Amino acid sequence: MDCLREIEGKQAHDPIFIEKMNKSSPRCICVPGPVIVGAGPSGLATAACLKERGIPSILLERSNCIASLWQLKTYDRLRLHLPKQFCELPLMGFPSEFPTYPSKQQFVDYLEAYAKRFEIRPRFNETVSQAEYDATIRFWRVKTTVGGQKCGVEEMEYLCRWLVVATGENAEAVVPEIEGSDEFGGDIRHTSLYKSGEEFRGKRVLVVGCGNSGMEVCLDLCNHDAMPSLVVRDTVHVLPQEMLGKSTFGLSMWLLKWLPMRLVDKLLLVVSWLMLGDTARFGLDRPLLGPLQLKNLSGKTPVLDAGTLAKIKSGHIRVFPGIKRLKRYAVEFVNGRCEDFDAIILATGYRSNVPSWLKESEMFSRKDGLPRRPFPNGWKGESGLYSVGFTKRGLLGVAMDAKRIAQDIESCWKAKAPFARSLLLPHSTSP
Ligand SMILES: Cc1cc2nc3c(=O)[nH]c(=O)nc-3n(C[C@H](O)[C@H](O)[C@H](O)COP(=O)(O)OP(=O)(O)OC[C@H]3O[C@@H](n4cnc5c(N)ncnc54)[C@H](O)[C@@H]3O)c2cc1C
Repeated sequence: MDCLREIEGKQAHDPIFIEKMNKSSPRCICVPGPVIVGAGPSGLATAACLKERGIPSILLERSNCIASLWQLKTYDRLRLHLPKQFCELPLMGFPSEFPTYPSKQQFVDYLEAYAKRFEIRPRFNETVSQAEYDATIRFWRVKTTVGGQKCGVEEMEYLCRWLVVATGENAEAVVPEIEGSDEFGGDIRHTSLYKSGEEFRGKRVLVVGCGNSGMEVCLDLCNHDAMPSLVVRDTVHVLPQEMLGKSTFGLSMWLLKWLPMRLVDKLLLVVSWLMLGDTARFGLDRPLLGPLQLKNLSGKTPVLDAGTLAKIKSGHIRVFPGIKRLKRYAVEFVNGRCEDFDAIILATGYRSNVPSWLKESEMFSRKDGLPRRPFPNGWKGESGLYSVGFTKRGLLGVAMDAKRIAQDIESCWKAKAPFARSLLLPHSTSP
């Protein structure tokens, strides 16, 4: 460490080194603080926590706005699934006048206000195409493509000591291959492109996938007088959104302070049974493991029912097993039944895109693009690499990661401050 400081001290005063770092290419920028990839809630929270500690950062975002998942890829009726107190980013709460479950627009407004308050100005339309640690100079090399079709594509390179991966668990839509997709005559689209049931009024729509999104899209379709059906291939835990006058999530967190998880799961299932009845009767079999244990082990989130189950019970939403193949305007299911449909919505989830751009395989699994080490230890890797928002614990996990990362970087930042400050450039968000 002393040796490193000595080298850095020398480098800080070595004009040739600084010249090489900053001007080896006109499109190469040497960044004194961390580079954060992704300006969703995770990237914003990390930038704010760093700023609070006086550390400037650069935030790179592929789209043209903050929180692009929320602004561009979600349906109109979306509200936070969890009460607002579990979805706050660090250092700034939700406005008190917001409802318990803020709407998508309210959440976006909150994030805009957050970015404004901490003066976070991401570099938009800049997609990180590759990031790799260069052991010879002990910096991360982060390559980006800037702009798009209209303004042409330019390439940039950032050199930084700390790299924060904040590209999210939901970076790319998962679109399954279904036999006969080419043959199907109607619209097939992922939920990331679904906005409202309005355009499906009067249509027979098959929703594939029974997570929170699939269930809510079905309800939205019902509310717009479409005729939705739901494909349920796996077992699923459906819980009421509220129990005994409290949010189910909040109640679970509170019970976990006193009781073991298995017992809390049992209580949740008893109350769910009393409130919702036996969901297996409607084609929604429950997994063998309880909802919290399952979430803990596999990350699979229970569905918090916002009214869909009542529509299934009343027959407004029909439930089908897995799809065998698609035909011109019909779907054949694995049980041999064949039904007519006008459109198919794929509520088949998302995946991380980290393996496509991060040239590293110690911290992140190349298989699923998530940190290999389980929660709560997945946030820190080697050589100044960090991850935020990959805990499968939503915004609560985001806040925890962001605070830890800022704290950790601060300790190195102080040690390396003279060197880092010598590289300060106007591109960074100044503290
Ligand atoms: C429909 C839906 C509802 C949800 N509801 C809740 C909820 O109620 N409560 C909760 O806690 N969680 C909820 N979640 C989980 C949600 O993912 C998180 O709350 C939150 O959006 C995660 O923030 P993030 O910044 O980690 O990821 P994201 O919001 O996905 O942001 C990642 C950003 O990185 C950018 N990016 C990706 N790749 C690159 C690249 N190569 N270069 C540059 N930029 C890149 C993306 O464009 C994006 O803007 C919900 C998710 C969905 C899909």
